[in-house]
Amino acid sequence: MPKKYKYIRRRDAGKQGTVVCEQCGRVIPRHKAVCIETVESVVRDPALRRELEKRGAIVMAYPVKRCYCVSCAVYLGLVKIGGHAEKQRKLGKEHQLRI
Ligand SMILES: [Zn+2]
Repeated sequence: MPKKYKYIRRRDAGKQGTVVCEQCGRVIPRHKAVCIETVESVVRDPALRRELEKRGAIVMAYPVKRCYCVSCAVYLGLVKIGGHAEKQRKLGKEHQLRI
């Protein structure tokens, strides 16, 4: 289940450099990026990898760290929109209904 994105302001925010989003290529500050580590195999096809492992081959797997911008992380389902934005949207809807 995706967890809610929470922007935490830190004292050294903005001094940590930038990262490039893997999905859209946008340059974003490092403290704002959503980074996820996964273990990726050299053999991309899972069926082929299973076949090779069955025959006794040792298939290499290495950890990969991927960083996404907030909009791409929400689009991919890695994080949910934060509580504040959700509340604002609800308030906006209520406001529109009243008018
Ligand atoms: Zn992006």
